[in-house]
Amino acid sequence: MLDVSPVRAFSDNYLWLIRSPLDPRGTAVVDPGDARAVEEALAREGLSLKAILVTHHHPDHVGGVAELAAHHGAKVFGPARERMPCAATPLDDGAALNLDDLGLEFHVMAVPGHTLGHIAYYGHGDLFCGDTLFSAGCGRLFEGTPSQMLGSLDRLAALPDAVRVFCAHEYTLGNLRFAATVEPGNVAVLEALEATRALRARDAITLPSTLGRERRINPFLRCRESSVRAAAEAHAGAPLPEAAEVFAVVRAWKDGFR
Ligand SMILES: [Zn+2]
Repeated sequence: MLDVSPVRAFSDNYLWLIRSPLDPRGTAVVDPGDARAVEEALAREGLSLKAILVTHHHPDHVGGVAELAAHHGAKVFGPARERMPCAATPLDDGAALNLDDLGLEFHVMAVPGHTLGHIAYYGHGDLFCGDTLFSAGCGRLFEGTPSQMLGSLDRLAALPDAVRVFCAHEYTLGNLRFAATVEPGNVAVLEALEATRALRARDAITLPSTLGRERRINPFLRCRESSVRAAAEAHAGAPLPEAAEVFAVVRAWKDGFR
């Protein structure tokens, strides 16, 4: 299992530091939106930044990329279909990212929806999914369609139960409050909500999750469950025969949920 630790940035972002299993100081970072926060963590831990992995183009994910790349000479990798803030090796669906000097290897998955070029990195039993999949939630549809996002989430959900899910934001508590509204009879959601309230009360991180857990608590991975479909149909006041229609209603419902 990889040694992965969060760097907090902005109000609720996590920038993930991945330690090399080979090189005791070698490190990769995922989505460094804030260079200063990463620099502080590297200095505190005595780490050397070798690689920068980007999931999508939003400023809170790429804001520190150019500065960190220039300062450390780190290699930058990012989505082939999006504009990066500096020179980057473009990665598209199915690409194998081999960071030989770090002993790290990731499989790249295209997961359009939040943005059209969004990619996820899967390797060593860990998933770095940016703003596509959150614990008990998913990213807003800024660029893609509901069926694109559902297709992306379906691909992630097909990974094994034990896969650890490293999302880019601490949104779990709000997401679970919504999940409990959609599925008030889902005991796994209610238990997760209680546990998450306790964690957040002491400002503790709720991540990583696992895909097995997400399949039990995440309404956006549960659009084919009769409970989620029934709740979406009641909310929409109309029958929703297709999973993508259920997803679209639940996503729009969440957008307006407070
Ligand atoms: Zn984003």
